[in-house]
Amino acid sequence: MTKDVAAIIDGKAFAAGLRERIKAEVPKFQEQTGRAPGLAVVLVGDDPASQVYVASKHKATMAAGMKSFEHRLPADTKQEDLIALVEKLNADEAVDGILVQLPLPPHFDEKAVIEAIDPDKDVDGITPVNAGRLALGTEALVSCTPLGCLLMLRDELGDLTGLDAVVVGRSILFGKPMAQLLLQENCTVTMAHSRTRDLPGLLRRADIVIAAVGVPMLIKGDWLKPGAVVLDGGINRLDIEPGEAKGRLVGDVAFEEALPHVRAITPVPGGVGATTIAVLLRNTLVAASMRAGLAKPEGL
Ligand code: NAP
Repeated sequence: MTKDVAAIIDGKAFAAGLRERIKAEVPKFQEQTGRAPGLAVVLVGDDPASQVYVASKHKATMAAGMKSFEHRLPADTKQEDLIALVEKLNADEAVDGILVQLPLPPHFDEKAVIEAIDPDKDVDGITPVNAGRLALGTEALVSCTPLGCLLMLRDELGDLTGLDAVVVGRSILFGKPMAQLLLQENCTVTMAHSRTRDLPGLLRRADIVIAAVGVPMLIKGDWLKPGAVVLDGGINRLDIEPGEAKGRLVGDVAFEEALPHVRAITPVPGGVGATTIAVLLRNTLVAASMRAGLAKPEGL
């Protein structure tokens, strides 16, 4: 299974392909329902990174032929006003997906806001209902980053049945749903975390490695099994070096070291992170189809 040269999985190209498939499906939805799928994004406060992210989502939603509803609220918005907006969006027939940009300013009870989102419109897969559906193996809307990893893995490996997978990290939005998704694909899944005793030993047996940690270059090349497929979800900014305007972005895997060992690996940037918005659009179209009683669009 080992190739002479590792494939670098191009997240941007993968996302472009997914966006094309979505764009082709939107008119079919529109023909059947008389309307376009709609995504509502709620941004509270003026965090610059969130503003950039929300603007990119708006652009991508429009480019896919969907409706984009943006709600920008001041940082001092009251909890009850935000919940009232979420409830209004829950009731709005033109809205199929609701995304509340996190983190919220500190005075919010984030859990209560998340729980107010209609699970059938929860395109970020963050409500307890969708976490439960995923754990039970029933139809669920799944958090975009782990779902993007799974779609890329299927693309690279086809059938994942029987493969040994190690997910490093057990967060609610990334590590845990990732492990559940791989289990549904019939992988043998191990979840590692900060208390794991022998991470190198576990990784040396893994056909699939998902890094969901947030520690720069934690995973060394010689910890990886020859021929492994590695998806690096970490986004870590290093300290600024002389001559650099910004610190370099790196993943959780020592990329250069890993290359001679692996079959395929995602780079950082341009890997897992590049797929998130396309998967959000995919989830919006799937949510819209489910709400309209239509079959899930093919190829998504
Ligand atoms: P998180 O909530 O901080 O979780 C990190 C996980 O890593 C925890 O489960 C933690 O274990 C584990 N961990 C920490 N140090 C470890 C070590 N030395 N060995 C093994 N496990 C260790 O982070 P997250 O939200 O899941 O995000 C993880 C990374 O993915 C971050 O770099 C984040 O920026 C990135 N991310 C990327 C995307 C994307 O679109 N690419 C989306 C979301 C997140 P404990 O549970 O024991 O503390």
